Amino acid sequence: MTDGGGPVTRCALCGRPASGPCARCRRSVCADCCELTSGGAATFALCLTCARGGSSLRRPWLHLTLWLLAITAGVVAVGLGLAALR
Ligand SMILES: [Zn+2]
Ligand SMILES: [Zn+2]
Repeated sequence: MTDGGGPVTRCALCGRPASGPCARCRRSVCADCCELTSGGAATFALCLTCARGGSSLRRPWLHLTLWLLAITAGVVAVGLGLAALR
């Protein structure tokens, strides 16, 4: 249960010490789990998940939308409850 000692950032894919964050999903990945992608003038390091799929950027948005829907539903439920009390 003891950590290897020290605040070492681990790779999100294999658990080894990470070398840097993914340019798209910002997860820390090691050198073996990232691919260098040249986009225009700059070179980005993408984790293997983003390099293969490339669509994981939309999942957080879906998550956020579901969150907002849940909050809105809660507000509407409270509003209906208040209206029913009148
Ligand atoms: Zn790795
Ligand atoms: Zn990524």
